[in-house]
Amino acid sequence: MYDLIIAGAGPSGLTAAVYAARKQLKTLLVSRDVGGQMNWTMGIENYMGYQFVEGPELMLKFEQQVKQFPIDTLIGEDVNAVLKIDNGFEIHTEDGAVNQGLSMIISTGKKPRPLNVPGEKELMGRGVSYCATCDGPFFRNLKVAVIGGGNSALEAADDLMKTSAHIYLISLTPLTADPILINRVKASDKVTILTEHETLEIKGKDSTKGIVLRNIKSKEIKNIDIEGVFVEIGLIPNSDIVKDIVTLNKFGEIMINNANETGVKGLYAAGDVTNVPEKQIVVAAGEGAKAALQAHKYLQYLAR
Ligand SMILES: Cc1cc2nc3c(=O)[nH]c(=O)nc-3n(C[C@H](O)[C@H](O)[C@H](O)COP(=O)(O)OP(=O)(O)OC[C@H]3O[C@@H](n4cnc5c(N)ncnc54)[C@H](O)[C@@H]3O)c2cc1C
Repeated sequence: MYDLIIAGAGPSGLTAAVYAARKQLKTLLVSRDVGGQMNWTMGIENYMGYQFVEGPELMLKFEQQVKQFPIDTLIGEDVNAVLKIDNGFEIHTEDGAVNQGLSMIISTGKKPRPLNVPGEKELMGRGVSYCATCDGPFFRNLKVAVIGGGNSALEAADDLMKTSAHIYLISLTPLTADPILINRVKASDKVTILTEHETLEIKGKDSTKGIVLRNIKSKEIKNIDIEGVFVEIGLIPNSDIVKDIVTLNKFGEIMINNANETGVKGLYAAGDVTNVPEKQIVVAAGEGAKAALQAHKYLQYLAR
């Protein structure tokens, strides 16, 4: 029986782990990967103490700090289920392992929202990507499409302008990104912007060959030959594992109060998976710290 189980090792989970270890809680950190969304981030200019740092480099710093402490880790494992048991929580991981904790922090962050069109799943990793920062360099001198009209999509297009031969920016709505980004992308002769276009299908067998679009006003169908598709239509919270025991808001985020409490005694949540406004590394790290300190207080109360 652990004192605390932390699910998710992004900025919030890693920070929670350090705070828990410093309170000498017997802690298990379980995560699909280390770093979370920081791994997808090219440059960070707003994490205090660093004027500029690349995402993977900051992730490594966080990881090294966690490794200074005696924390049990299960990395490369998905938590499939979280159950409420009499004296705490039981988690089931992909490999069939079962672990129990008196308290728990859910810090599972967010994942990219899929388009849900034919060809998307089949061509994932074979031309379909959800991270221009990570995969952009594989599409050097090739034609690509970016789907989306918000900041992530425009940032992706801006990034791809440096390496790809041509970028089709396809958005269902008018562009909603910051004007500075829109102007930069519009100024490039490498980008064709198609707003009010719906993506119907991604074509290809072993690799991506094209995309089928429909103009939502004229209903005209367009077939465009491209070799890569970057889906940048937002993120959804990884809250499924606790959806039956906590309250989620309409976005699927775990509802917490300002002490990171979910409403289930001993179960805390932190970072992007929660309803806390502003999804940023510094916010997620702070929330992770708060959640661990609250879990510590709860365990002290249990011990009395
Ligand atoms: C492209 C991009 C650029 C960004 N740039 C910046 C920036 O410049 N500055 C800034 O402050 N913020 C930036 N952000 C936002 C920032 O990265 C997030 O706010 C932050 O990473 C959230 O941290 P988190 O720990 O809550 O979640 P995440 O970083 O999402 O981490 C969640 C962790 O949980 C794991 N996980 C998920 N589900 C499970 C499961 N079922 N079982 C086990 N493990 C699971 C994941 O593998 C991951 O390790 C950016 C985000 C993106 C996508």
